[in-house]
Amino acid sequence: MNRWNSTFKAKKADFAQNRPQNGRRPKVGNPSNARARLATGGNPPQMARLKAKSGKKRGTGTKSLKKKAWKQFSMFIRLREADFEGYVLCFTCPKRGFWKEMQAGHFVRGRLNANLFDERGCQAQCYSCNIHRQGNVIVYYKMMLLKYGEETTEEVIRQNNETKKWLPGELASIIEKYRILNEELLKTKEAL
Ligand SMILES: [Zn+2]
Repeated sequence: MNRWNSTFKAKKADFAQNRPQNGRRPKVGNPSNARARLATGGNPPQMARLKAKSGKKRGTGTKSLKKKAWKQFSMFIRLREADFEGYVLCFTCPKRGFWKEMQAGHFVRGRLNANLFDERGCQAQCYSCNIHRQGNVIVYYKMMLLKYGEETTEEVIRQNNETKKWLPGELASIIEKYRILNEELLKTKEAL
């Protein structure tokens, strides 16, 4: 036992002192490669590059779909209550404007929640109400109660606590649904 300990200690000291010369030094490799492997959970750099590339592509795809979905949905919100000339009343003030000059404003602010494409939680608003008055929320709340009643209004508020991750397939369905609805709505507007 003593012999083992002394041998072990001697070898340990030898290793510490003669590390570069002992021929058994583990290969460390290029420090930048080592850093890249650490950053990617041990994957070789080529694999890391491929993963980063495909990840970026997926991200851009969903972002782009979300943008397209919002374009169609926002158009629907502004057109659904527009008159035959394409004019619509602001949900929270007496301003009446051409649908293209109006905005689609959310009842519960923030675009990361499940209310993003909820037809009840998004209404036509003028620029002043949506931007300057930050949604004009007190009037918005009163108007929600008038239009949908307390239960639905509270449900839309509750939904704000849910974090929704939109999948590409869901976004594609939203784009298609509102594209068709918008086409129909535009047909009913004589002046467009
Ligand atoms: Zn307004």
